[in-house]
Amino acid sequence: MKPAPFEYHAPETVPDVVGLLAEYGDEAKPLAGGQSLVPMLALRLTRFEHLVDLNRVPALSGVERRDDTLVVGAMTRQATIERGAQAQAVPLLGLAAPLIGHVQIRNRGTLGGSVAHADPAAEMPAVALALDAELEVASPAGTRMLASADFFVGNWTTVLGDDELLTALHFPVWSGRCGFAVDEVARRHGDFALTGVACGVELDANDTVSRVVIALFGMGSTPLRARAAEEALVGRRPDADTLDEIGRLAVADLDPPEDIHASARYRSVVGAHVVTRGLTRAVQEART
Ligand SMILES: Cc1cc2nc3c(=O)[nH]c(=O)nc-3n(C[C@H](O)[C@H](O)[C@H](O)COP(=O)(O)OP(=O)(O)OC[C@H]3O[C@@H](n4cnc5c(N)ncnc54)[C@H](O)[C@@H]3O)c2cc1C
Repeated sequence: MKPAPFEYHAPETVPDVVGLLAEYGDEAKPLAGGQSLVPMLALRLTRFEHLVDLNRVPALSGVERRDDTLVVGAMTRQATIERGAQAQAVPLLGLAAPLIGHVQIRNRGTLGGSVAHADPAAEMPAVALALDAELEVASPAGTRMLASADFFVGNWTTVLGDDELLTALHFPVWSGRCGFAVDEVARRHGDFALTGVACGVELDANDTVSRVVIALFGMGSTPLRARAAEEALVGRRPDADTLDEIGRLAVADLDPPEDIHASARYRSVVGAHVVTRGLTRAVQEART
């Protein structure tokens, strides 16, 4: 099947992009790596009269360290994050990238596309949520910063308006005795996760947890922070029994989706183990 006809636009600046989005409203859609949008158009699951290609806008790509923040342009390819040295300041990005689809997909797919697409089983939205990344958004009215916690609304839905473009993501850089992990269970390598976690742990000099973040994916209609589990772990020594308990707590109040790939019960039971496994790896890294 082929996509329905559309008019193709190739602007070269952010103001031109948001100008086109404002002009055509809900008949227009930004085209980033095309790894989600193009299959949906080809299968005629969706159609738009206007596609606004972001690939000729240089200002949307690149990774830049600004003091304690890593700023990643929305059009930065997932493969650039996976292979590039610059993104190493935020280890969760480098840990998540290789789990996205296959190398051909990551060569085209972008960080901003992953986050704006907001698939609840995707890795990068959970990384953004775990780290409280700030999202830079442009529109004809100017630029605004959004907290990740306010960005995701539901399945493939965010707070972005029709005339708004995600331009960059601002990630805090952690320092000290830190460790990170992204862990997931998928039916095959490259598939979307059935359940997964992005987590980070900081230990103090006594090996007690001083900071922890846990974000789950595949467990609801958006990525989810396990805040009760985070609070329960701070101030404790993360031994095996404690991390088992935290894994169970992280999924305790969730109502995971049920589909042909996995039951809700499967996602809960396996999700708890995935959280424990991820935290165990993060703690080991922080200790060493
Ligand atoms: C076989 C296969 C397996 C995959 N497996 C995974 C996986 O395991 N994990 C995973 O996370 N993803 C997976 N993907 C999806 C892939 O990572 C996509 O790259 C990603 O979802 C979207 O990024 P993109 O740059 O291709 O965006 P596009 O497909 O171009 O766009 C996706 C959506 O986001 C919007 N958008 C894009 N950029 C912006 C922006 N800057 N501002 C506002 N809106 C924007 C578009 O308008 C569109 O609605 C898979 C894809 C395929 C084909």
